[in-house]
Amino acid sequence: MFVVLPREYNFLLNTKMKVTEHIARSKGKTLFSFEIVPPKKGNSIEELYRNIEPLIEFKPPFIDVTTSREEFFYKQHPNGLLEKKITRMRPGTVGICSAIQYKYGVDTVPHVLCGGFTKEETEYLLVDCFYLGIDNVMALRGDARKEERYFEPTKDGHTYAVDLVRQIKDLGRGKFLHDVIETDYGTDFCVGVAGYPEKHIESPSMTFDLARLKEKVDAGADYIVTQMFFDNQKYFEFVEKVRLMGIDIPIIPGIKPITTKKHLNLLPQVFKLDLPEILVSELEKCKTNEDVKQVGIEWAIEQSKELKLWGVPTLHYYSMGKSDNIVDIVSKVF
Ligand code: FAD
Repeated sequence: MFVVLPREYNFLLNTKMKVTEHIARSKGKTLFSFEIVPPKKGNSIEELYRNIEPLIEFKPPFIDVTTSREEFFYKQHPNGLLEKKITRMRPGTVGICSAIQYKYGVDTVPHVLCGGFTKEETEYLLVDCFYLGIDNVMALRGDARKEERYFEPTKDGHTYAVDLVRQIKDLGRGKFLHDVIETDYGTDFCVGVAGYPEKHIESPSMTFDLARLKEKVDAGADYIVTQMFFDNQKYFEFVEKVRLMGIDIPIIPGIKPITTKKHLNLLPQVFKLDLPEILVSELEKCKTNEDVKQVGIEWAIEQSKELKLWGVPTLHYYSMGKSDNIVDIVSKVF
């Protein structure tokens, strides 16, 4: 059972804290966090609440909310002509973050993207976060749009996540896009960035990719969340390389429980990552997606237990909006 407290009692639940403060206060104990995806436009937020409520019982100190790229669709006119229009199918990231903070007293982390946003829009989004008491943001470039082969920066937007980190940190120094404003009420966001244990798909080499990660950290990133991986050794090696570069901020592992047989081909293709042989052969034996889900849960439990023993700061789960499998995993790990 969980209790929904009025906002004024949120201090009892450790809210209004930065991700790095939560980690520091845990004194080496591994925390639990997860990522959710906003509902498709036109859907109610209640289903999202129903999905996250079983996870709130495990006391996540923070929850990430993704942001989706805009996409094209074709509107048919009465004369039969099709008009190409652009839309965002899953809007509402900042609104959802604020709603969760107020409803459950849990800190939230909106994902802020370069793709699809001008610098000006990003500034306004950050100001909204500031007013809403959201202290954490995850700074990401975003992927290419579906119909694009490569990422194309939005006109007047940023090209790389490092530019976004700089904008967020500049704002904290009162440096707005149009002016520098002397203020005692500057923003002070805790900024997360992405890291890739198996390197980012577009990077020519791991060394190149790590140098780009170092730039994000030098620009002020406060912590790293990794892309999913299924072999913990990849994470351990990644952390070792990152530490050798003198980067000492928390590196949070991202865990994705496999839920459908399609993931066997999809995940390596989309994220350019390797699935361990034993996992592949277990998944191949599965007759139904229910069997696949069970293998995914067991794999994620073993991965999580080993990472926890190793002392990771947080186990961060990619829930994709569904929580039943995450509940199964977390109840065995925490
Ligand atoms: P960057 O750090 O900008 O890197 C992108 C590529 O450019 C890399 O190959 C890098 O090596 C290269 N690069 C960086 N700087 C330079 C430079 N100066 N010169 C040349 N090359 C450079 N996507 C979404 O759309 N929405 C989300 O909510 C979302 N959440 C995510 C959460 C996590 C934890 C992770 C790991 C990824 C998430 N993504 C999300 C996906 C992410 O947007 C993609 O992986 C994207 O392709 C890269 O984002 P990035 O922030 O790592 O980009």
